[in-house]
Amino acid sequence: MNLVGKCIYRFGKDSVEGDGSMRELLGGKGVGLAEMTRLGVPVPPGFTLATNVCRYWLDQKTYPKGLQREMDDAVRWLEIEVGSRLGDPVEPLLLSVRSGAPISMPGMMDTILNIGLNDKCVLGLAERSGSMRFALDSYRRLIQMFSIVVLEVSKHRFDRALDEIRSSERVLEDSALSVDALETIVRSFKSIVLEVTGKPFPQDPHEQLRLAIDAVFNSWNSPRAKCYRKLEGISESLGTAVTVQTMVFGNRGENSGTGVGFTRNPSTGEPNIFGEFLFNAQGEDIVAGTRTPVAIAELSKRMPELFEELVSVTTTLERHYRDVQEFEFTIEDGKLFLLQTRSAKRSALAAVRTSVDMASEGLITRSEALLRVKPASLTEMLAPQLNFSDGDPQSLTTGFAASPGAAVGLIAFSANEAVVMAAAGKTVILVTEETTADDIHGMAVATGFLTARGGATSHAAVVARGLGKCCITGAKDISHDLTSGTARIGSETFHSGDWLSLDGSTGRVFAGRLPLKAAVGTNHYLQTLLDWAIEESSIEVWANADTPEDAARARTGNAAGIGLCRTEHMFFDPKRLNHMRAMILANNELDRSAALDELLPMQQHDFEELFRSMSPLPVTIRLLDPPLHEFLPSVEEVTSEIAAARREENWDAAIQLETVRRRIETMRESNPMMGHRGCRLSLTYPDILRMQVRAILQAALVTAGEGFAPVPEIMVPLISSEEEMKVLAEAIHETASSLFAERQQTVPYSVGAMIELPRAAICAGRIAKHISFLSFGTNDLTQMTYGFSRDDSRSYLDEYLKQEIFAADPFITIDEEGVGSLMKFAIGAAQETNPGIKIGVCGEHGGDPESIRFFSSLGVDYVSCSTARLPVAQLAAGHAKLRSEAPSCVSLECSTVPAETGSVANVERLEERSHSV
Ligand code: PEP
Ligand code: MG
Repeated sequence: MNLVGKCIYRFGKDSVEGDGSMRELLGGKGVGLAEMTRLGVPVPPGFTLATNVCRYWLDQKTYPKGLQREMDDAVRWLEIEVGSRLGDPVEPLLLSVRSGAPISMPGMMDTILNIGLNDKCVLGLAERSGSMRFALDSYRRLIQMFSIVVLEVSKHRFDRALDEIRSSERVLEDSALSVDALETIVRSFKSIVLEVTGKPFPQDPHEQLRLAIDAVFNSWNSPRAKCYRKLEGISESLGTAVTVQTMVFGNRGENSGTGVGFTRNPSTGEPNIFGEFLFNAQGEDIVAGTRTPVAIAELSKRMPELFEELVSVTTTLERHYRDVQEFEFTIEDGKLFLLQTRSAKRSALAAVRTSVDMASEGLITRSEALLRVKPASLTEMLAPQLNFSDGDPQSLTTGFAASPGAAVGLIAFSANEAVVMAAAGKTVILVTEETTADDIHGMAVATGFLTARGGATSHAAVVARGLGKCCITGAKDISHDLTSGTARIGSETFHSGDWLSLDGSTGRVFAGRLPLKAAVGTNHYLQTLLDWAIEESSIEVWANADTPEDAARARTGNAAGIGLCRTEHMFFDPKRLNHMRAMILANNELDRSAALDELLPMQQHDFEELFRSMSPLPVTIRLLDPPLHEFLPSVEEVTSEIAAARREENWDAAIQLETVRRRIETMRESNPMMGHRGCRLSLTYPDILRMQVRAILQAALVTAGEGFAPVPEIMVPLISSEEEMKVLAEAIHETASSLFAERQQTVPYSVGAMIELPRAAICAGRIAKHISFLSFGTNDLTQMTYGFSRDDSRSYLDEYLKQEIFAADPFITIDEEGVGSLMKFAIGAAQETNPGIKIGVCGEHGGDPESIRFFSSLGVDYVSCSTARLPVAQLAAGHAKLRSEAPSCVSLECSTVPAETGSVANVERLEERSHSV
């Protein structure tokens, strides 16, 4: 025992020292191997150096005292376990050394295979396996991988040497190289090492093991690992575990092979085993793209018993972990070995389906099903699609539809190029041979990926699904010309900066800039999940809807009401705008009232549609809010119209336009957001208020007469004081009373205030006495609390975010500390003077999952968001309740779906898998 406690955990036939609860200590890989061994799944034995060793090593630049002895004991134990010895020239033990952080960091750290081979042992391996070719190939891979990772020799040196031999032997694939050629390669690789490092390749397997472990621990701090952690928000202090495991080989003949699979389809969620397999192969063969893997189902024909065993073992794993598993396996001479299992990274479509299916199968609870789908990930399902309404254009090529959605952007041929183009404000599609972990910075900024190689499980595919971006892999019709910096896609040549369109749902690639259309996106599974979420939630989700079309979408999207109808949006129609302008420019009451008379029926018509769509749910209609000059043309526009009128000698028109210009100039404000807007308009132009209230209530009377049950809620914007609210509430009630008296009919309605100003939040107790609901306009409340202009703060806000002064954009995620405190105070005060008052939120934060969690904790009755965000908000509302009931649900979400917190990269998987060389 040493300062950090137990360091090494073994997993073997008769003893397993870790279990599934020890992820933090053993890392994802170590914990999976320990648990699989416990379950009796066939796993090559080995041991894991825990993350506490890594943390000590990174901190102290040395290992904890006693570790070497613990390691020697573990190696001796392993030798007895498998019946061969490290460095034994006859029965050499070969090992893989692999990284494994508690949260998956695919491909970001290093892996070394075939540790234990040297000039003598290679002969023993040849003898034991009966294949000199295989032994030499394994040895050259060790020299190559070890030297790149541990000795920091450039990868290109080895690639060049290999290319030379391949061309002199006239072969395309490494597997076709002769024994003589492989001997030459081994010699050439060793001399590269000697030349670059000044020392021969280390022949002592124990030294190889020690150095390999150091290098894997050090790779925790590699630039790409650090970049990935930053991107995914993974803590720097976690450290990685290192697993040392006995090698098994998938290229020992036609009875061997290697594969990657999922217990359910990770793209669609269909409940069938899915994956790829290569006979007589090593993982690298898939990466190289020189051999095409077959579907796992093919195994059922060629090795039916093994296929059955694989299905049975992986079903056991899925049942045990109660989640879809992504597994790696090797068949060595007819014997199955599982090398890894983890919760599968999946598309949003698959996450929704598998969660609903597994809850229906009784494998998980509905609450777990809800928590397994990240609300924000639904946007991927609801992502835009290419719009083919003008006909289906000819595609350039078709690849594998690896991640759904569509992307339209400018081509970048490398991650670095993508970063430069994105920084210049361009929308970028990354077009490469394939992607690797080193491309993560480019992938983070690109809108979609297109690769010439790969398939369902390649790096680009898996990362894209994780990022919710569109991706097409394995589009074979692409050839890059590195010298000219162009690529041929199908029969056309493309330069960087050319437009390209991707259809991630079918895998088709199109030249040019195709139109995009918004996704419809819901299916039976999502609907079921959202129904469960709505049932579960304690906060309702309403929609912001300004037009009859929006209202229809809100209803089909199961909004529980309309929380904000911005009436001014109804005036932007050109026909209506003229009447609006006439009303604003009117010099006297009479002219104004004539213009308002024209506007009233238009508004009433729209309100009727809203009430019909939403009956019997509430529809919150906000009185006119923006500064009136927003409806007028600019001074410049009018000036040029005056000039034109003068040119045409139309003096009457010129004089009229002069009056308009003067009026616009007098209305101009330095700070329109803090100007003549909101309830200030209703106070200074009470006839506008009267027209709007009449339009609302007349619409309610008409639709009630048709048998609908309209529930109008009249909302007054930008309230700052009790007096304002009192006067305006009275004006609304007076207008209602006189209308009802005229019509000899009434309808129920309510009056509420928007809380958008800090003063309103502070005086909410007084304001609440005059209303029956209040709704937080968090956009303005954020603007006014921070003093950050909603419209002009982008440049410095971006800087705040870059410098990490703010963790999140306060216009997207509510500032709990400041704005949130005001809200909390306002709710408390309002409930004190008006205990039954209804509380809502209708700013953009109403569609943000993190903000919804906070609003739910404040006891808000509803949030209102754009109709497109409804599914996200509904699921987030369900999460909010579940998390508040059991804070441990948060860890449930992480531990059940660890892959959701980091992307699973094929590169790592295949590098790791190639310990099945
Ligand atoms: C708000 O301020 O949050 C709000 C909903 O109003 P608007 O965005 O129209 O100013
Ligand atoms: Mg506002």
